[in-house]
Amino acid sequence: MRLQQYHYQVIYVPGPKNLAADALSRHPLPSVNNVSTSLAVDWPKLQQQDSHIQTLMMSMKKAKCPEGLKRTYTVANDLLFHIIPATRNKARNRLLLVIPISMHSAVLQDYYSSIWAGHFGIRKTLQRILQAGFWWPDLHPMVKEFVKSCKICQHTKTSIHYDTQPVLTLGIA
Ligand SMILES: [Zn+2]
Repeated sequence: MRLQQYHYQVIYVPGPKNLAADALSRHPLPSVNNVSTSLAVDWPKLQQQDSHIQTLMMSMKKAKCPEGLKRTYTVANDLLFHIIPATRNKARNRLLLVIPISMHSAVLQDYYSSIWAGHFGIRKTLQRILQAGFWWPDLHPMVKEFVKSCKICQHTKTSIHYDTQPVLTLGIA
């Protein structure tokens, strides 16, 4: 009787939010699915389609997996993660999802030039991507290149003085 009641509660009481929080507290994985709607993609599938990620994952399954690889990467829930080792400030290792090549530009756009991202600088953009739990081997140089080559920013920087004045005048009139 008591057991039945308990069973009922476990199944019906927790809402989706509670389940997510519970899952996250049990698994030290980044919250890859609540970052933004445009990036709520099938990460396991996309990683499977990435040959570099697949090669890494296969090497990790081998008995003679190189120590360097084991220190850098780990597999959890069929996903490849990059390990950020614990420091004096952070007591635990952090795991960052290794982003497949097919998603690099989508991530850059989302954290730099999407409507909410706001074209911040190289350091801030990089920080945001890492905080979201994303990583790939040449992330840093790619962010640098992406931010530097932004056409919108280049245009704004050269034309801002000409654009501002007429707009203000029109607003007052
Ligand atoms: Zn820009």
